[in-house]
Parts: sequence; structure tokens; C-alpha cells
Amino acid sequence: MMSKRTKRRAKLLREQYKLRGYWRQPKRERPAKVAAAPDDARQRVKGFYKSWEWKQARYLFLKTHELRCECCGASKESGAQIVVDHIKSIRRNWNLRFDQSNLQALCNDCNMGKGSTDETDWRVFDPGQLTPPAGDWLN
Ligand SMILES: [Zn+2]
Repeated sequence: MMSKRTKRRAKLLREQYKLRGYWRQPKRERPAKVAAAPDDARQRVKGFYKSWEWKQARYLFLKTHELRCECCGASKESGAQIVVDHIKSIRRNWNLRFDQSNLQALCNDCNMGKGSTDETDWRVFDPGQLTPPAGDWLN
């Protein structure tokens, strides 16, 4: 049995968490954030996306995959611009830059939202598999 004081403290803590916006979101839904890459890695990546080798790898991917956003389902027909995303950022995984299995189709909006620190693989992501954490997190 919790004392009044413990209950009050738990309530305060919960309110703090809500204010910070991470109370209602189950832990497993939070994207895996990784540290930002150093500036020279950023420059290298910038040049890479302009290279002919990348355009060739990107073309091959587009040619062999359905052009639908793996995250939100948007397609060219629904007015979305589909881009080819590196699931694991090449800033930190330079060796994966041409790896076709590290590529996924995303719409421009989802790709911008994902950024370079989130490594969610939307091809296998199944929201049905998410389970809420134990406890009274919904209260
Ligand atoms: Zn999308």
C-alpha cells in the first residue's frame, strides 16, 4: 500500500513526464537516436549524394521496388515525392552507402521527419507488435 506522500510524488513525477512529452509514448516506439556525425563526415555525404555512383544505385533501387512510402503509404499517385532513404545513416555507416538492403522508399515528408539520427527500418516495422509498458502509464 502506497503512502499518501509516495502517491503525491508519483503524481508529480507523472506530470513532469507529461510536460516533457514522453509519458504517453511507449518506450519501444521512441526512435533509436544515435550521436550526430562529425562535420567532415557530413561533407563527405553531401558530395556522395551528388555522385554518379549514388544516382546509379538509387536508380536500381527505384527500378526494382514499389514506389510507395514504407512509413505512411503515400505514393506518387497521391502526390507524394518518393525518395530513397538510407536506413542506417551513411554518415556513420559509410560502408553501407551502396548496400541495396540498407535502402527504403520514403516520401519526402517522412524522410525529412526521420532525419539522420533515427534508424527505423520501416520495411519491417509492425505497430501491432508494440506492447505498452507495464504499469499505469495510460492514467
Ligand atoms: Zn511517408
